[in-house]
Amino acid sequence: MTGIPTDVELTKATHTFLDQGPKRLLIGGEWVEASQGGTFETFNPANGRPLAQIALATAADVDAAAAAARQALTEGPWSKMSGADRGELLWKLGELILVHADELAELETLDNGKPLRVSRRGDVPFAAKHFKYYAGWASKLEGASIPVSIPDKFVYTLREPMGVVGLIIPWNFPLLMAAWKLAPALAVGNTTLLKPAEETPLTALRLGELAIEAGMPPGVINILTGPGTPTGAAISGHMQIDKVSFTGSTEVGRVIMQAAAESNLKKISLELGGKSPNVIFADADLESAIKGAHWACFSSTGQECTAGTRLFVERSVYDQVVEGLVEVAGSVRVGPGFADKVHLGPIISERQLERIMGYVDEARQGPAELLAGGERLGGELAEGSFLGPTIFAHDDDSLALVQEEIFGPVLAVAPFDDWDELVARANSTRYGLAAGVWTTHLSKAHRFAAAVKAGTVWVNSYGLYDAAAPYGGYKQSGFGREMGKDALDLYSQLKTVWIGL
Ligand code: NAP
Ligand code: MG
Repeated sequence: MTGIPTDVELTKATHTFLDQGPKRLLIGGEWVEASQGGTFETFNPANGRPLAQIALATAADVDAAAAAARQALTEGPWSKMSGADRGELLWKLGELILVHADELAELETLDNGKPLRVSRRGDVPFAAKHFKYYAGWASKLEGASIPVSIPDKFVYTLREPMGVVGLIIPWNFPLLMAAWKLAPALAVGNTTLLKPAEETPLTALRLGELAIEAGMPPGVINILTGPGTPTGAAISGHMQIDKVSFTGSTEVGRVIMQAAAESNLKKISLELGGKSPNVIFADADLESAIKGAHWACFSSTGQECTAGTRLFVERSVYDQVVEGLVEVAGSVRVGPGFADKVHLGPIISERQLERIMGYVDEARQGPAELLAGGERLGGELAEGSFLGPTIFAHDDDSLALVQEEIFGPVLAVAPFDDWDELVARANSTRYGLAAGVWTTHLSKAHRFAAAVKAGTVWVNSYGLYDAAAPYGGYKQSGFGREMGKDALDLYSQLKTVWIGL
């Protein structure tokens, strides 16, 4: 009955980790059961079977973790550590991730379902790179000296940590999201409470073990597994937590903002949903644009916040592009993440698949036209939650298909005729996370990049990220920029000091 596939040879380390019994919380450097003894079950989305028992943190556990984090912030070795020493710890953690890459990749694929190749070559090394990138920043957190017009005064700024920060993350890039938030938060000197998504806690827990192995002092990283309520809500409403950094849905982002307002006005940064436009001009290199548009929408089986789910194609090449998209969609392999040469894994859960199918079934009623996919996959895949690339043609931007974040492999394609129409349509949702444009005209690319309301714009490419490049949303896709130098602002505050000379 176990969700661990029997036909896959997993590393010994993965078995050891999974065989240790119910997973515990990391509080103050100790692995502990939840104070009320509660646990919950996680499932392998590729076969729907139980994978692990996980401690369920309640408000009392969040209290304990917040107290441990406060103590580490003000008293422990962390509070006295130089930036250079923090940087060394982060670097070491990055190295340990690489040493344990095979095992981490297997845990990620078991938990989230993504193809093992993607976990192993993408998520895990990217997570390591993040820790190494911010390791460098830890020793370079400078203030400024500021000339003022009042005589005999010297003014300078200090960059200080926010304090105790809560990090709440989703299930689509479990280890990578943990790295996106932990690395800059720790580089600046904060202490943290990390809440992974209830669907995918395993790699965060293993990361906690590696952090201890790297020498991270007790209380600097606390890991609280559990659902949005009570665990996440206890963090976002906590009086002793100074900041919450959240990635997830716009709906929950709103709830977090409310919780911050109603508690201690903690600082928040929100990375939320998207419904990103992707544009193919007639002058584009169509072969790469078609492939690019396919992967822009369907990579991670559409479960990416930046997914290019609204494709606009210049009318003169519309039929050709649509034909190409249907062909590529028919050629990809969907299946369990451990199977050979699989491109797309399962949807994270049965519940999420049902939600996606709700949108698909509604869209099938018309006026949109189904061109590919649209049916849950059965046969050998019936036990898991599988849906292949699904493409609809439409010409009505008011449809739920076009306005709402489906968070599954569903692409809406429409033709466009002129520039003003295109820009208006591209900007016609409440979201503004990302956008793509395919053209060989440099000026068109720049003009579109300037006109689109999105935090990231990819030209003749899509879905690229780097630890050094800032990332975040316009409009209801959130605020604050993660990654790059900008993430240091997200996790620090400036103090201005006036000296009377
Ligand atoms: P979600 O339900 O918003 O959950 C995100 C995280 O928030 C999870 O850890 C969740 O716990 C927690 N949470 C839920 N309710 C909470 C509450 N009341 N207080 C505090 N925390 C709470 O999103 P999801 O279902 O995991 O992921 C899908 C959605 O996230 C999509 O809409 C997608 O666009 C968005 N997303 C955005 C980005 C981005 O970078 N902008 C990245 C990935 C995903 P549970 O796990 O128990 O629900
Ligand atoms: Mg959720």
